[in-house]
Amino acid sequence: MAEFVCYSCKKKVITGEKFTFTKEGPVHFDCFISSRRNTVPDDKQETLRKLSILLDSQLRLLLDILDIRLAGNEPEAVTAAYKNIEKECGETTRQISAL
Ligand SMILES: [Zn+2]
Repeated sequence: MAEFVCYSCKKKVITGEKFTFTKEGPVHFDCFISSRRNTVPDDKQETLRKLSILLDSQLRLLLDILDIRLAGNEPEAVTAAYKNIEKECGETTRQISAL
């Protein structure tokens, strides 16, 4: 797997850690959400909270599917599921960035 460095904490993203991609690059889920929490206006904090719960579960699912892929011999449905959920993660990340 490719190696990524989180632009927020400057640490390497370790396999199994939740992370996402923003315009600035790869970032840990926790680093991303805590930085957004500091910058998003008060009236959008509740939306941020909901979207972060959504992204958390999407990223968890992505890691689970990745485990299945790494086990090898993946059925086509697994590849398709991975692509779909990856797209959804990207969309949720984009919405959080836009708050
Ligand atoms: Zn980080």
